[in-house]
Amino acid sequence: MTDPFLAAEAFRAEVRSFCDEKLPAGLKHKVMNNLLIEKEDYVQYLKLLHAQGWSVGHWPKDYGGCDWTPLQRFIFEEETSMAGAPWLIPFGVNYVGPILYTYGTQAQKDRFLPPIRSTDEWWAQGYSEPGAGSDLAGLRTRARREGDHYVVSGQKIWTTYVQWADWIFCLVRTTQEDRPQKGISFLLIDMKSPGITVRPIRTMDGYRHVNEVFFDEVRVPCENLVGEEGAGWGYGKVLLANERVLVAELGRSTRQMRRLEAMASQTLRQGRPLAEDPAFALRLSELKLRLHVLRATCYQAVADAMTGAAPGAEASLMKIRGSELQQDIAEAMLDVLGPAGMVFDPAAAQGEGHLPPAGPFEATGILRDHLHGRATTIYGGSNEIQRNIISKSVLGL
Ligand SMILES: Cc1cc2nc3c(=O)[nH]c(=O)nc-3n(C[C@H](O)[C@H](O)[C@H](O)COP(=O)(O)OP(=O)(O)OC[C@H]3O[C@@H](n4cnc5c(N)ncnc54)[C@H](O)[C@@H]3O)c2cc1C
Repeated sequence: MTDPFLAAEAFRAEVRSFCDEKLPAGLKHKVMNNLLIEKEDYVQYLKLLHAQGWSVGHWPKDYGGCDWTPLQRFIFEEETSMAGAPWLIPFGVNYVGPILYTYGTQAQKDRFLPPIRSTDEWWAQGYSEPGAGSDLAGLRTRARREGDHYVVSGQKIWTTYVQWADWIFCLVRTTQEDRPQKGISFLLIDMKSPGITVRPIRTMDGYRHVNEVFFDEVRVPCENLVGEEGAGWGYGKVLLANERVLVAELGRSTRQMRRLEAMASQTLRQGRPLAEDPAFALRLSELKLRLHVLRATCYQAVADAMTGAAPGAEASLMKIRGSELQQDIAEAMLDVLGPAGMVFDPAAAQGEGHLPPAGPFEATGILRDHLHGRATTIYGGSNEIQRNIISKSVLGL
C-alpha cells in the first residue's frame, strides 16, 4: 500500500508545478501585492482549478471530487496560497456543497452540485444577523410554511460578496421551541426571488466585502429545504467542523512573512537595511518563530485528522494563533513603510484615485490588507468565542 505521507509529498510537487505553470501572472501580481481581487479574478482561478479537476478535490469521487485526504487538502491550500493564488471562496465548494451531498435530496444534488464544481453559480452564506453573530442560535429570520412554499422575512448581515451571488444558503427559524438551537432550518434561496434587498456595507478599507440582506415575504419552494425541518443547527455545525485546520491560513501568513522579510532587507534606515536593525531583527525572528510553531501545530492536527480522530479544540487554537499572526505581520509591514504606512486613500486602493500614491507602489495594498485584516479576529467565530471554547473543552471551566 502507498504511504499516504509520501504520496502527499508527491502531490505537493504537483500543486507547485500547477501554480508555476497555470497561475496567470496578472492574478498572481494582484495577490502578491494585496491588490483588490474582483469576482472575475476569483472565477478565473476557480475555473482553472475545475479544468485541472481540483475545484472540489476534497469531495468524494462520487460527487466529482478526488477524495483528497486531509493532508492533501491542507497541502493544496498551503501551496496555492504561498504561490499567490487568491482565497478559495469557500461558500460553494467548502460550505454548502458538502452539506448538500451529505444531507440533500437526489434532486438537490443533481441541480446544485455541478454549477458549484464549475463556479457557474456563486453562493453566499446567510447565517449572521444583527444581534445573532456570536450568539447565532438567537437568529430571528422567520420562515413560515404556506402550502408548498416557505415565506421568509427577516435580515442577515455581514454577508460576504452576496452582491455577486446567484444563491444564498440561510439558517432560518421555522418554529419557536424551548431551546433556541431547535426549530432552525437550512434553506437555499434564489437571490433573484422577489422581496430580497441587498444593501452594501463599506468596510474601513473602502471596499464592499460585506452587505446587509433583507427578506420581505420571500417565497421559497419547500423543495429548497435541506434535510429535515428544524434540524438546520446540526448541519451548520458539521460545516464548521469541516474547516478545522484551514482556519489557520498558514500559506497566506507564510507568503506575507516572506514579503515582510524582503521589504525589511530592501528598506534602509540610517544607511542600513532595516532587517539588520537589532530591534527589528528580533521582531522578525519572533514572528518567524510563531509561524513555525503554527505550522507544526497545523501538521499535528492534520496528522490527527488522518487517523480519523474527531475534531477537538485545536481548531480554536489555530484560529486564534493564525489570525493574530496575520495581523501582527501586517502591522510590521506598515512599520517598514514608515510614514507612507500612515496614509490610506480608498480610491487609490480601487484604482480610482486621481492623486499620486502617497509612498511606494506597495503601500496602498499593504494598508488595505492591514485594515481589512482587522476582521480576521472577528469572522469565522471571534477570538473571544474561540477562547471560551478552549476554556470549556480543554480546561473544563
Ligand atoms: C469581514 C466579515 C465577513 C463576514 N462574512 C460573513 C458571511 O459571509 N456570512 C455570515 O453569516 N456572517 C459573516 N460574518 C459575521 C461574523 O460571523 C460575525 O461578525 C461574528 O460571528 C461575530 O458576531 P457579531 O459581529 O454579531 O459580534 P457580537 O457577537 O455582537 O460580538 C461583539 C463582541 O463581543 C464579544 N463577545 C460576544 N459574545 C461573547 C462571549 N460569550 N464571551 C466573550 N466575548 C463575547 C465578541 O468576541 C466581539 O468582540 C462576517 C464578519 C466579518 C467581519
